[in-house]
Amino acid sequence: MINISEPCFDELEEKAILEVLRSGHVASGPKVKEFEEEFVLYLGVKFSSALSSGTAALHLACLALGVGEGDEVITTPFSFIASSNAAVYCGAKPVFVDIEEKSFNLDPDLIEGVITPRTKAILVVHLYGRPADMKKILGIAKKHDLKVIEDACQAHGASIDGKKVGGWGDVGSFSFYATKNMTTVEGGMVVSDDKELIEKINSLRNHGSRVRYVHEDLGFNFRLADLNAAIGLVQLKKLDDFNKKRRQNATYLNKQLRGLENIFLPTLSEGMVVHQYSVILDETLDREKVRESMLEAGVGTGVFYPIPIHKQKRYLESNPGLSLKVSERMSKKVLSLPIHPKLSTKDLDQVASVLKRSLGS
Ligand SMILES: *Cc1c(COP(=O)(O)O)cnc(C)c1O
Repeated sequence: MINISEPCFDELEEKAILEVLRSGHVASGPKVKEFEEEFVLYLGVKFSSALSSGTAALHLACLALGVGEGDEVITTPFSFIASSNAAVYCGAKPVFVDIEEKSFNLDPDLIEGVITPRTKAILVVHLYGRPADMKKILGIAKKHDLKVIEDACQAHGASIDGKKVGGWGDVGSFSFYATKNMTTVEGGMVVSDDKELIEKINSLRNHGSRVRYVHEDLGFNFRLADLNAAIGLVQLKKLDDFNKKRRQNATYLNKQLRGLENIFLPTLSEGMVVHQYSVILDETLDREKVRESMLEAGVGTGVFYPIPIHKQKRYLESNPGLSLKVSERMSKKVLSLPIHPKLSTKDLDQVASVLKRSLGS
């Protein structure tokens, strides 16, 4: 069976975990600190706060920036639901704009059309590991005095002009969930050049406390554990190799699948880290049938995401009749194929031939 994703661990992670278990310090401590320090060095930002998930990272990033009741946050509907939920947790309203067909990312040209006096921030997602147009987005944010939050939960190591994403906006959020380009099993990180903002997040993740049992704020338990951070430290060292392998695999699939009439292949833009390799099926194809037939032949696939966020139950009420054509069309037509680092050329040949057969070509 070829799975859509698989965690990549070896003796190094095993050794790291054993070390922590035997050290007697498994909860948040020195390994978390070391992980935070290594991550900012890798990213080229100044400060970071490790958290229990990417969702927690987005949530606290919004809170620490002052996103609150009555505010509006402009964002993409073509993402994992956590990116919009982050604004909702703070009492704000996500305002959705459509995506660009080529990049699957929020279309910067649509942002200014939805800015109101209540707009507080733009929450950008670098979907599938493809950097969003940060230069344009930051320009708009500056002009209208808006904060920029980057959801880089799928884009560890992606870059624009050599500068890594997550470090472009006011604050960047990462996830280290098991299927991401690097993992701590569960985990997340907020990064920023703003020291005060990170100190605020450090307090919020720990029940609003900077001094033990003195609580200055209503906080949460969003801490990461040393056990997880130890895995993250090993994975971070492997990240560039993982990303290289993913891109090679994606490039190989693009070559093997070139010329097929009923699918469109993804462009592997500069600086992209290829978290997902998503093809677009044309109207003649039934995606569920293609997936079933591939699964029967031993190839797992994924759909990211089948329902755009503005059409999810929780969001329908506040967005009656909202129609975002590109997102809605893409959600019906995208199909992700396996490109994870453990795959061999033989596996990729198998993916390509099984897909071709399932497409009837
Ligand atoms: C994974 C992911 C998240 C949430 O991260 P968790 O660690 O699962 O909470 C948020 N946004 C995007 C785009 C993601 O892919």
